[in-house]
Amino acid sequence: MAFVPISIDDYVTKFLAGNPDSERSEVTARLEETLADFKAGTRCACGARIWVIGSAEAGHGCFRCITGEAYPEEDYEIAEASTKTAEPRAAKGSPLREANFLARPVKRGRIEAMES
Ligand SMILES: [Zn+2]
Repeated sequence: MAFVPISIDDYVTKFLAGNPDSERSEVTARLEETLADFKAGTRCACGARIWVIGSAEAGHGCFRCITGEAYPEEDYEIAEASTKTAEPRAAKGSPLREANFLARPVKRGRIEAMES
């Protein structure tokens, strides 16, 4: 359920193996442009961060919108983008995480026990 990080050069080599009619310089340029867009904060129409490898070929979109699959599995992503692909999650001890903990409903039995 995660991207496999890969360098642009390595990915282009794999891409060209499957698409022998493509030009290495063009494929590389598209990936570099899309990676720059990713770094600039470009997002998919749904609000998620873009999937650089898919977006280079299909236009700006996140993994889910481009592939229709919920999570990447053995799918490549440019290494520089793959570590930042996940939406920020609440870190341990962060205010957000504390709030989630406090918002959990108290079990009914515990309230009754306190009242008796
Ligand atoms: Zn999307």
